[in-house]
Amino acid sequence: MNKKENTAYSTLTQKFNLLKNEPLKRYTSFKIGGPADLLALPKDQTELKKLIKQASDLDVPVTLLGGGTNVLITDKGIRGLVIVTRQLNANIHIIETQLNEKIIFVEAGVRLSKVCQFAINHSLTGIEFAAGIPGTVGGAIMMNAGTESGSMSDIVNAIEVLNQKTLAIETIDGKDLDFSYRHLNQPGIIVAAKLTLTPGDQNKIEETFKQNLIQKNATQPVSFASAGCFFKNPVSGKPAGELIEKTGLKGMRINDAMVSRIHANYIINVNAASCEDVLLLKQQIQQAVFEKYHIQLETEVRVQGE
Ligand SMILES: Cc1cc2nc3c(=O)[nH]c(=O)nc-3n(C[C@H](O)[C@H](O)[C@H](O)COP(=O)(O)OP(=O)(O)OC[C@H]3O[C@@H](n4cnc5c(N)ncnc54)[C@H](O)[C@@H]3O)c2cc1C
Repeated sequence: MNKKENTAYSTLTQKFNLLKNEPLKRYTSFKIGGPADLLALPKDQTELKKLIKQASDLDVPVTLLGGGTNVLITDKGIRGLVIVTRQLNANIHIIETQLNEKIIFVEAGVRLSKVCQFAINHSLTGIEFAAGIPGTVGGAIMMNAGTESGSMSDIVNAIEVLNQKTLAIETIDGKDLDFSYRHLNQPGIIVAAKLTLTPGDQNKIEETFKQNLIQKNATQPVSFASAGCFFKNPVSGKPAGELIEKTGLKGMRINDAMVSRIHANYIINVNAASCEDVLLLKQQIQQAVFEKYHIQLETEVRVQGE
């Protein structure tokens, strides 16, 4: 760390309640990741804005983390300030009822599972696809999380984004968002979203959630440390998991990083895998699949850090 960074970090730690050299494996479902120089868990938007302003004035880079369920953090960790949004979770309520729809306002740090339960409690349909997807609403929107039966882009009515330069909260209409498969092309920090759901039959909605969850638990290694599906499915043809399985890679292992025997598109951390182990395994999977099928698998999980 140079002198300028040292001074900047001291200023930030004097003004805010920050954790220093905090191991990021504690904040990711992969249970992998070196330290964040500084880590903050802001409790509301006011605190978030103050943090962003100070960090920007001091030239300290900021990285966002929601539930940490779609990221692979490097072994050296993340330089600068990591902001974990999961305590920005005070608000979820119905704000508007239109003819055949209800608009739900939800803060970015609210767990997706809580939104699913909210939908069941209020007899709302449209988000059943998200049954069993971990993480926060902000992360789910950034990743355009989903399954074959739907994704966040289907239900996002609008997002509220904190512009890191001006510190203004900007509302962006859903139809103006540049969503693609497991991706949203949008700078800034999502602080809240409006989701469009439709009134429906509560028993039917609850049953669909239950069936989706049973199906997920039966076919994916949900109780192991992972970041979900590691590779994106190719645009056409066989899904990534099938390609990996048919290449004979189930159970392939580098130290504690292993291709799941339950679902081949999951790389699991059996105990104490490092980011290096996972990246090496990833490379070998890509190479083997390419040799057999001439398909280059692309990573869905985001690798972040030094
Ligand atoms: C067991 C398991 C099952 C899964 N199943 C599925 C599935 O069925 N379908 C699917 O699509 N995914 C699945 N995932 C992946 C993951 O759960 C989703 O992508 C999830 O929506 C990510 O949310 P998160 O809050 O954890 O995001 P994070 O992993 O914390 O962040 C993801 C990215 O978004 C950025 N980000 C986070 N919050 C914000 C914000 N507020 N503003 C701006 N940027 C932000 C981060 O910097 C990072 O680049 C699964 C993961 C696991 C571990």
